[in-house]
Amino acid sequence: AKKVVPTLRSVQKLFVNLHDMVSGAIVESQSVTESASVLTPYDFKQRQEESAVINRLLAAKMTEISAVHNKWREEAAYSAEDDFQTRLYKLQNPESCSSAKKLVCDMDREGCGLGCQLHYGVTCIAASFALNRTTILRLGNWIYTKGLTNRWEDYFVPPSPKCQWTPYSEPLTVWRNASHNALNTVLYPLDVFNVQYFKPFRVAESFADRLRHFHGRPWIWWIGQLLVNLFRVQTDFEDLFAKRAKAIGFKSPIVGVHVRRSDKTASEARAYDLEAYMALVEEYYDRLELTQKVDQRRVFLASDAPSVYVEFRMKYPQYALVHNQAAAKSSARKETRRSEDSLRGIMADMYFLAKTDHLVCTMSSNVCRIVYAVLQTRFPDATRRYDSVDIEYIYMGSNPLYHKAVHPNEAGVDGISLGFNVGDRIRVKDTYWNGTSYGLIVQQNGSWVEDKGQRGSFPAYKLQEDLEVF
Ligand code: GDP
Repeated sequence: AKKVVPTLRSVQKLFVNLHDMVSGAIVESQSVTESASVLTPYDFKQRQEESAVINRLLAAKMTEISAVHNKWREEAAYSAEDDFQTRLYKLQNPESCSSAKKLVCDMDREGCGLGCQLHYGVTCIAASFALNRTTILRLGNWIYTKGLTNRWEDYFVPPSPKCQWTPYSEPLTVWRNASHNALNTVLYPLDVFNVQYFKPFRVAESFADRLRHFHGRPWIWWIGQLLVNLFRVQTDFEDLFAKRAKAIGFKSPIVGVHVRRSDKTASEARAYDLEAYMALVEEYYDRLELTQKVDQRRVFLASDAPSVYVEFRMKYPQYALVHNQAAAKSSARKETRRSEDSLRGIMADMYFLAKTDHLVCTMSSNVCRIVYAVLQTRFPDATRRYDSVDIEYIYMGSNPLYHKAVHPNEAGVDGISLGFNVGDRIRVKDTYWNGTSYGLIVQQNGSWVEDKGQRGSFPAYKLQEDLEVF
């Protein structure tokens, strides 16, 4: 009991502080409205800067408050991880490979980068877990292995090291439903848009409750735990990377910045200036400095565009720039995208990005999303350890991620504000910079309205992410 009292006191003190800061923020914004007509653009800028400072202080306080529970959270996280990985290990290492039920993941995706390939694999491992089958990877014409002597297993430990792919004389049956459960070996329909009931954002029901307790986004914890069964570099690479980390000066505090350019920004996504990334890095360090001393602001930079490294050096000399030069060199040579070098390059970059304290990247890239999920396996809860320069997290062909109303919202006469009650389920389409979300009601007063649900805007804080299970 002696230990508990000071802990509670410190929480109370922090809350009082927090309250003072929040009321300060409200007074601040009122004065902005009252005097809006007489404020010059300069004043507005100053007000904006002041509210940024208040936000930063609030975030720092929140970190302190949650740190009070760190020990408990760590224990909860490690025990959940231990339970889950033990179960998965048993499944992936059966006594006999021939008699074990197997699920073959057809990873023969020619145009898929490493991040993209890992996402296919995650879906398949989730299916293995749900169907109680050992995962077998089948890789043939993948860009990094096609026509080359290197194989996936040379880089990564396969999910089930003992049971490997061997060609079957009969074509394998594709698993579609429970009627295929009796078959010894089935093929997983690895179609990215094929929604299955055990796909993210759903998590196994047997883990849901405990995850809700210690993690802000249980579904990303889940994806991270599945991922480490795939993104597990072979020991010789692990040794190589550990040596390399020392050589390049990789140490905490360090922010991982991933700037995706080349083929991606030519067709699929917008290219953002380095400044957009660095404003978020700066903000992270300003916040960190409120809770600890930072001797040197450090960035681990990864990009498929070599010019970004040059630009960084020129524009941000005050930062310690850490990067894996070998990777930079290999991504510079376009023709090596298919080569061994290029797989090694992106593998190292993702490995190092996942060892940073905070990520700044574009969630439109598979690389950014994979690294964010792996980050969850290094901290009890790494929900907030990222800033995306473009969109929010997505998962291709996922089950929907619903939100539940925790505060009611009144329908506005304007026809724009969405009315809902506590407990209603909402599908969020977008959340904007000013804290407003746009979405549609899918469940109202307990009954599903799905497509007929009303659409509209509301303050984002009135909802909480809701966890779906399989
Ligand atoms: P996405 O296209 O960004 O969504 O992700 P993919 O996984 O489909 O493709 C990423 C591919 O682009 C990688 O496999 C690399 O070939 C290349 N790439 C992207 N970013 C980097 C990077 O930071 N470093 C290196 N070395 N290669 C990168």
